[in-house]
Amino acid sequence: MAILLGKRGVPVRLIERRPDLRKHSLPAGRSINLALADRGIHALKQAGVFEAVEPLLTAMPGRCLHDVNGGTQFFRYGQREHEVIYSISRPGLNQLLLNHAEQLPAVEIQFSTACNHVDLKQRQLTLQNSETSQTSVEGYSTLIAADGSASVVRQAISDGRQSHTSIDFLPHGYKELSLPATPSGQHQLEPHALHIWPRGGFMLIALPNVDGSFTVTLFLPYENTENPAECFNGLHDQNVIQAFFKKHFPDALSLMPDLAEEFLTHPTGRMSTVRCSRWTDGQSALLIGDAAHAIVPFHGQGMNCAFEDCVELDALMQQYTPASAFTRFEKLRKPNANAIADMALENYLEMRDSVRHPRFLLQKELSFKLEQAHPQRFIPRYSMVMFHHEIPYVMAYQRGKIQTEILDDLTADIHHLDQVNMSRATAMINSKLDPVR
Ligand SMILES: Cc1cc2nc3c(=O)[nH]c(=O)nc-3n(C[C@H](O)[C@H](O)[C@H](O)COP(=O)(O)OP(=O)(O)OC[C@H]3O[C@@H](n4cnc5c(N)ncnc54)[C@H](O)[C@@H]3O)c2cc1C
Repeated sequence: MAILLGKRGVPVRLIERRPDLRKHSLPAGRSINLALADRGIHALKQAGVFEAVEPLLTAMPGRCLHDVNGGTQFFRYGQREHEVIYSISRPGLNQLLLNHAEQLPAVEIQFSTACNHVDLKQRQLTLQNSETSQTSVEGYSTLIAADGSASVVRQAISDGRQSHTSIDFLPHGYKELSLPATPSGQHQLEPHALHIWPRGGFMLIALPNVDGSFTVTLFLPYENTENPAECFNGLHDQNVIQAFFKKHFPDALSLMPDLAEEFLTHPTGRMSTVRCSRWTDGQSALLIGDAAHAIVPFHGQGMNCAFEDCVELDALMQQYTPASAFTRFEKLRKPNANAIADMALENYLEMRDSVRHPRFLLQKELSFKLEQAHPQRFIPRYSMVMFHHEIPYVMAYQRGKIQTEILDDLTADIHHLDQVNMSRATAMINSKLDPVR
């Protein structure tokens, strides 16, 4: 956001609680890499930084599913050459964006400075420098708050305007682990894939890094009354952890020499969906990104959606006063944020369970076939979300529901793609789905 505004000469003061990550290392076990898709790429292009980002990317054209016997199967996410998602280092991307922002004369960055309180009426922030412990109260004219899912500014907006905020925590947590490169720096698994070990109630995933390693994430319930050893609260010593991985992820275990130590020292992260009724005070303050709409990570869209926020807000701010732009932004984006929040929750079930079932695979194949036959009308929902930034999330969600009905109908009594009644498919698609553009 600072880059987009700064490029237009709008003065920006960027206030960041953490120290400059280009000079300080990050704590281990906190989301090392992310999936970047079309919406995020579009925003990075608008900001003029995508070319610089490209060397940081590892293409993941599909998912590689691992069964309990170590067998693997690869499934493409899209069917066109360019329909791929990318793994990118979170600190690498942050560093690059900071470097670009810093070069703009209009942008000033202040690290190690936490905003502890916001007075929306007086338009004042209480800031505290973590290096000097000094506190200051400073005025602002316009405040864009990208202060994440525990936003201080959201709290202030909620307090002042009878706004309602819900924070729904998942009963599942996540733990980040690593799968190192070979001594010669090679990947030990196929690098061009998002690896998934779906196990029904839980799953392990791995995303490639450019240094040959993978960042592995275990998503697991905190508690499990039926099987107490298969939940975070039950995995408390080396032997239990090793046994759990040996039973469910034997192929990954053999490649993760530091598993038990990392498991016991890395934090277990919580995941939540944040929905709040007001994103702006209607005057001079606005929430964007996770501060407005944190979502669970199963569609790989939180950052992509936050970047899309920036593009849409920048466009509105070129046309309207901040107060008007903020109100319009809230109205425009909220249905989209709600839609991706719901799709992200649905995708957890798909990733950890449905992907294993023949019916899911048949419907996936059929989706591609229908897209080939009706490219303007039938685009698989995953593709709409990940590869079509011009299709708003809410439209992807609505069309996706209709498409699911069509797919369920067409696959109700069949087991093979060649049994699909294609003339019935065409009739249903033409009557239920308008062309996208
Ligand atoms: C396990 C996991 C995996 C994920 N994977 C993906 C993925 O593959 N693809 C994807 O698109 N998204 C992914 N996400 C989501 C993504 O991380 C977030 O949506 C994204 O980081 C949101 O960006 P943000 O700038 O809004 O908030 P944040 O990234 O949380 O940044 C907020 C910033 O504000 C600073 N800050 C906070 N409070 C204050 C304060 N009071 N004063 C000053 N500064 C403050 C913080 O230090 C931080 O730098 C994942 C999330 C998780 C948890």
